[in-house]
Amino acid sequence: MVGAGPSGLAVAAMLRRAGVPPVVLERGEGVGKSWADRYDHLRLHTVRGASRLPGLRLPRGCGPWVGRDDFVRYLERYREHHRLPVRLRTTVERIEPGPAGAVERWRVHTDGGVVAARAVVVATGRCHTPQLPDWPGRQKYRGHLLHSAHYRGPAPYRGRSVLVVGAGNSGTEIASVLADAGADRVWLSFRTPPNILPRSSSQWHVLGRLTESLPLSWRDRSALLTQRCSVPDLTPFGIPRPRKGPFTRNAEEGNNPVLDHGFVEAVRAGRVRPVAAVAGFETDRVVLTDGTRLRPDVVIAATGYRPGLEQLLPVQDVLDASGRPIVHGAETSRAAPHLYFAGFTNPLSGALYQAGVEARAIARTLVAGTPRVPAPRGTSDPGRNRSGPGRAAGHPQPGE
Ligand SMILES: Cc1cc2nc3c(=O)[nH]c(=O)nc-3n(C[C@H](O)[C@H](O)[C@H](O)COP(=O)(O)OP(=O)(O)OC[C@H]3O[C@@H](n4cnc5c(N)ncnc54)[C@H](O)[C@@H]3O)c2cc1C
Repeated sequence: MVGAGPSGLAVAAMLRRAGVPPVVLERGEGVGKSWADRYDHLRLHTVRGASRLPGLRLPRGCGPWVGRDDFVRYLERYREHHRLPVRLRTTVERIEPGPAGAVERWRVHTDGGVVAARAVVVATGRCHTPQLPDWPGRQKYRGHLLHSAHYRGPAPYRGRSVLVVGAGNSGTEIASVLADAGADRVWLSFRTPPNILPRSSSQWHVLGRLTESLPLSWRDRSALLTQRCSVPDLTPFGIPRPRKGPFTRNAEEGNNPVLDHGFVEAVRAGRVRPVAAVAGFETDRVVLTDGTRLRPDVVIAATGYRPGLEQLLPVQDVLDASGRPIVHGAETSRAAPHLYFAGFTNPLSGALYQAGVEARAIARTLVAGTPRVPAPRGTSDPGRNRSGPGRAAGHPQPGE
């Protein structure tokens, strides 16, 4: 197992339960490093019941939307509860096939030596490497520009003007928190109007799986109707109603809808001002696609992440053109048998819920010893959220 985040820990727990001894390699000082490094006021946007991993509940005391520190504590307890052998401070640098015919098919090169393994599960996170678009003029911009991965909390931005770029869950949440915490002025720049749903609708994420067999257009219509009924129209404030429904956007672009944490009210009250997409940078200004020029004190780019797997996996036919794995969960590709990927899809039911689904499937497959090789491209289910079509190389995925 490479990575002791929720996905890696869940697979390790399910393997242990099935009697297969796992080894988990983790670069961090503790488990759940990605979560420990995220901003202070982060709360899960998936509800507690849908965010637990298999075999251990998230305590009721954490509330319906679990805070960052409680979630990291939960991951530590998860490791203890399942007695998972995690080798901390061990960075995996490369995964390569072993010698032909060897029982241990893979060689995992770490900063502390080589580990030979029959099967490898890569669980290094879909949100691994912060992605900044290659905006024209970005290099010569002298202002303060940071990715949302490096934002910790609102205190340093009090009394300052901030342009937040990207209307995903991170961008909208950071913008409204900054506005409430005393930033002088907050703009939110977006390309595509977001699908916004009330926060409470995350309770229905998992139920959404029950409608998976229905056509996308039907599911979109019902979601757009829910939006109309439960979220005020922000068109007069500069955010038109989205034309595409959340199910189509999830299938085509891998986006999830924004769950409203106070963003809608902040826009209506004028505390967050929506503006056009960023076209580029001048030395001291940001140029928007409608020709507006802004001079914010700080630009926070909530413009998504890449999995950053290219260096780790110098193996042919494992990643697609955008650097995402071509197989998921219990599948392995013909080119790389028994190399599994956990945590690289972004279904509407939530990545944490999916971590449990994939962990059980991978454990079953490893115990059976017969990996599932997916049908050749073009014959698989087009509505399924996976890497590939619609995700051009270098195209940023919005923040979570
Ligand atoms: C701001 C934000 C909020 C989110 N909120 C939610 C939410 O509310 N609900 C939800 O379902 N999902 C949410 N997500 C999605 C989130 O990415 C997943 O839920 C979850 O973290 C996925 O777990 P993971 O184990 O796949 O990846 P990660 O949590 O990223 O874990 C990957 C682990 O691999 C380790 N690692 C990476 N590279 C190496 C290496 N080379 N060698 C060794 N170890 C390595 C990392 O240190 C890390 O511990 C959010 C994402 C972001 C960015």
